[in-house]
Amino acid sequence: MTEYKVDQQRRNLVKGLGAATLASSVMPGSLFASEPGPTAVIIGAGIAGLSAAWDLRKAGFQVSIFEKEKFTGGRMVELQTGPLYGPTHAEGVFNENREMFALAAELGIEKQVRGEAYDQVWNPDDGIGLDNGHGIYYPGGMSDFDIENTMKIPGLSRETINKLPLLQADMDEINATVDPCLLETGTAYDNESVGEYYMRMLGKVAGKEIIDYKIEQNCAGWGWDPFETSKIALLSWLASKKQFVYPRGGIGALTHKLDSLLPVQNNTTVRYITPADSNGRHTVHYLNENLERRSVTPDVVVCAVEGKYLDSMVQGLTPKQQALAKNCFFTKQPVVYWVLDDKYASEEFATGAYTSSHPDPIKAQTYHWMAMPGYPQFNQPPYVRYSLTRRYTPEWQNSDMAIEDYCWPMIKSLYPRLEKSHIVDIVDYTSDSLIHMPVGYVNQMAEVLREQRKQRKGLYLAGEYVAGAHTGAACASGRSVARDIVGHWI
Ligand SMILES: Cc1cc2nc3c(=O)[nH]c(=O)nc-3n(C[C@H](O)[C@H](O)[C@H](O)COP(=O)(O)OP(=O)(O)OC[C@H]3O[C@@H](n4cnc5c(N)ncnc54)[C@H](O)[C@@H]3O)c2cc1C
Repeated sequence: MTEYKVDQQRRNLVKGLGAATLASSVMPGSLFASEPGPTAVIIGAGIAGLSAAWDLRKAGFQVSIFEKEKFTGGRMVELQTGPLYGPTHAEGVFNENREMFALAAELGIEKQVRGEAYDQVWNPDDGIGLDNGHGIYYPGGMSDFDIENTMKIPGLSRETINKLPLLQADMDEINATVDPCLLETGTAYDNESVGEYYMRMLGKVAGKEIIDYKIEQNCAGWGWDPFETSKIALLSWLASKKQFVYPRGGIGALTHKLDSLLPVQNNTTVRYITPADSNGRHTVHYLNENLERRSVTPDVVVCAVEGKYLDSMVQGLTPKQQALAKNCFFTKQPVVYWVLDDKYASEEFATGAYTSSHPDPIKAQTYHWMAMPGYPQFNQPPYVRYSLTRRYTPEWQNSDMAIEDYCWPMIKSLYPRLEKSHIVDIVDYTSDSLIHMPVGYVNQMAEVLREQRKQRKGLYLAGEYVAGAHTGAACASGRSVARDIVGHWI
């Protein structure tokens, strides 16, 4: 076992349950307490890693969690970004999240995590409707496709309206058979893109209308192309008819709680993991908080980092894992905030949301913009926010322009009151951490999980990239991998 800073180790351990006992029994130079039970290093303190760590610890594992950032929660965190404070990625959770709510209940914070329903936070009459050039309508959340409501979208042809009920049987079947939090249950539907699906089911004209007015918008924020995205990645949400909820007190409620109870070592970056030795154990090579190179060889390693890092981090992936890692990439969501001097703040909330098929070429380039008056009580300055639509992202990327310069003419046209002299800060909120799920990905994921379940291993994969593109799936993945490990080891 390599040298380790005992002070840091103690500090981390005392955050955990039973801290008093653990802190007194830590072996000098060891990451783990001198207690019976297998040892596990979990890499990544996002919801997947934390959920896995919690369940493993309950089952008697000695766990240690390595997190490269100084904060815990991964893409489920709220942070100060320049003058803005709030969620940096995920904001709400699907009501479908059985595992997440069960975990929250176990920790005594279920009510907080179940939070407020989308409809209670955003009143459809507030005007946050979508404009497709024919009228403004409320398209529903990301997570549902209600036939009755979809029929009311302005501009739909009679043919489309008449054909929409043809979709119901598939939605019912998917709703009954696919768990959106464990997408491996949807392999049977991973055979075509969501775009191809609607074209096949509804025909060219009606299929295109539904994609333009509803599906493209569901995909826009994720940078997903409907004709490349596996239909089940999206239909598993759309068929579920469940609400999207905003946890009370913010998205970080659950990860904060887990962080307070578990030994997370922040500022600890894993460099690589070696293939299994003759005892089936992997060595994790990492930089500690002082940027010193260290290594540790626990019984079990759980790799719960963003999927795009898998290939470079884990040496000796199996052919199935390698295939998944090569297919795992992230898309972009370009967003910019212009922070305003208080005296130029919009007096009230102003917003616009458009389909990318909108006949006005300026409106077609954003799927959402808004002007916020600012909330001094939350220390939130006024700002104007612009989200570039997926279709225009490549044009911006090829332009060599900063996002704020590229988007300036469009926001100026949509919100003429904005002047450069009113701006005190610009925050580039462009994210490139949205996983893509192309056709075939879910099947690859399921193959990896089947292989992982077969027998006891020294290394397990967990996280969104082996479950589905949302926090509930990542949480379910962490809990499910912990069950596999416990089954193999205890
Ligand atoms: C812009 C955006 C908006 C989203 N909105 C929603 C939403 O509203 N609702 C929803 O349910 N989902 C949403 N999601 C998806 C959701 O955020 C993710 O699916 C989920 O948080 C992934 O959890 P995870 O634990 O698998 O990964 P992560 O949360 O990414 O955790 C991985 C952790 O590993 C750490 N790590 C990486 N490399 C190393 C290393 N070398 N050493 C040590 N640690 C390392 C990372 O720092 C991170 O903390 C959104 C995602 C994005 C990008």
